[in-house]
Amino acid sequence: MDDELAISVRGLRKAYGDNVAVAGVDLDVRRGEVFALLGPNGAGKTTTVEILEGYRRRDAGEVRVLGSDPASPAPDWRSRVGIVLQGTGEFDELTVAEVVRHFAGFYPDADDPEKVIERVGLGDKRRARTHSLSGGQKRRLDVALGIIGRPELLFLDEPTTGFDPEARRDFWELIRDLAAAGTTILLTTHYLDEAEALADRVGVIAGGQVVEVAAPDQLGNRQAALATVSWRTPEGALESAQSATPTALVAELAARFGGEVPGLTVTRPTLEDVYLTMIGHR
Ligand code: ATP
Repeated sequence: MDDELAISVRGLRKAYGDNVAVAGVDLDVRRGEVFALLGPNGAGKTTTVEILEGYRRRDAGEVRVLGSDPASPAPDWRSRVGIVLQGTGEFDELTVAEVVRHFAGFYPDADDPEKVIERVGLGDKRRARTHSLSGGQKRRLDVALGIIGRPELLFLDEPTTGFDPEARRDFWELIRDLAAAGTTILLTTHYLDEAEALADRVGVIAGGQVVEVAAPDQLGNRQAALATVSWRTPEGALESAQSATPTALVAELAARFGGEVPGLTVTRPTLEDVYLTMIGHR
């Protein structure tokens, strides 16, 4: 398989009894890419990701992650992959710094624990016992444990669930830094703004299959969609028109109004619009 690919999946299948969770997934994630998996509840995202992480057996299909089959990986494979797990509560009595140091000990080339704690925004909590952290702070600690081994590939399953808006923005910055340093990132999310802000490419999964893979601004042929131009008439009524050439329409309106067009907006379908159409059609 291609060395340019961090992840390559062909014909992946997994059923739980009669329930087919993954029904023939094909997926490529390039090295250095941030790839977001989107899909409704029960679409098969977590099952797919757990197979890629080596935590779940597949029924069929070919899977390569950093050149290994996760079901029988090369000896150093696990230390090259970072996984952000939901905290186990196992280390409740330890402080943040102790837990991060403890995990650093598992890796041959771990990052500096103090630096990582700062990076995830827990600098002022380094001496706090982990049971005293808030939900969002615990999630940051999970992220710290996922990146302490300097992974080449990082799996993030719904990483910002429970974060306040500021923490989300900080987290996005962290992901951008990691990506800029060359880390490949596969994230699942239910937040379309998160996929749009972070992902080079988005894969939409529904019913256990990949429906589409595209850059966020290309998904569902979004760029080619008609723009909606809205404005107010001199009487104050709202008018709108769909146009493939909104610039020309705005120029025409400007001429008609002799300058500023009242209440002018030009919009195209959002990622959420195309996503909902995509999964709603199934
Ligand atoms: P969500 O967005 O809700 O996390 P998901 O896309 O991650 O959903 P999966 O968790 O992969 O979806 O679930 C896919 C299907 O497989 C669902 O129908 C689910 O009920 C089923 N499933 C998942 N895990 C198991 C399991 N351990 N045993 C039996 N069925 C399972």
